Amino acid sequence: MTTTALITGANKGIGFEIARLLGARGITAIVGARDEERGKAAAARIGQPYIRLDVTDAADVRAAARWIEQEYGKLDILINNAGIVDRPEDGRPSTAPLELVRRVFETNVFGVITVTNAMLPLLRRSPAGRIVNQSSELGSIARGLVQDSPLWPINDVAYSSSKAALNMITVSYAKELWDTPIKVNAVDPGWCATDINAGAGYRTAEEGAAIAVRLATIDADGPTGGFFQDEGPLPW
Ligand code: NAP
Repeated sequence: MTTTALITGANKGIGFEIARLLGARGITAIVGARDEERGKAAAARIGQPYIRLDVTDAADVRAAARWIEQEYGKLDILINNAGIVDRPEDGRPSTAPLELVRRVFETNVFGVITVTNAMLPLLRRSPAGRIVNQSSELGSIARGLVQDSPLWPINDVAYSSSKAALNMITVSYAKELWDTPIKVNAVDPGWCATDINAGAGYRTAEEGAAIAVRLATIDADGPTGGFFQDEGPLPW
């Protein structure tokens, strides 16, 4: 039976690499992307299907779920990868316009809930549904106040709090789905050179994709409700 995955924000960066790596394992890796031209081009590069999917557009998300149902009848893996960063010019939480914070939450938080709820009926039809939320170490509240950490100078109120919210969303869905085969985990890809940081990361997008692929393909005795990076579990 075909294993089918949907990856949001898969036209480039870490999402593209996740789709490529899942595809290399024989999984049908649907490239979700909001821009049709770039999405189709990315999907064609790895020989995978494309679906238009802006995670902030509920109609788009509903249409994507309908299409996946018609084409595949179920969904086995959902990777909530699409994400954005925005910050005020001076980087201070106190000067971030509310509109900026809302915009980041629309994608990084509300988009994840919209997509997950739309895909959940299809994931329930899978014998081994997996949801992986692309979080960040910056969403770790426990790490946020470690002063000798390289993360200390970073104080993006919108982005970091959106990823902290995503972490709790991960826990919430894991609890709801505790007695089902569906496993829900959050991952941190590490600091990867992609467009989100203007290429400043020191890891490749492929390296960053590995942890999501690992959690997407865990077997029945794998974890649920966890937060992981390559080295192991991260503190919330
Ligand atoms: P990226 O290259 O900028 O990719 C972000 C992807 O998200 C793009 O495909 C983008 O599409 C898509 N996207 C943004 N808003 C969307 C929306 N409303 N609907 C659908 N897709 C949308 O950055 P990346 O580094 O690969 O980021 C992927 C994920 O990893 C993000 O959630 C990010 O927070 C997380 N992450 C990255 C790092 C890092 O160091 N790079 C570290 C920790 C976590 P467009 O091309 O259309 O904009």
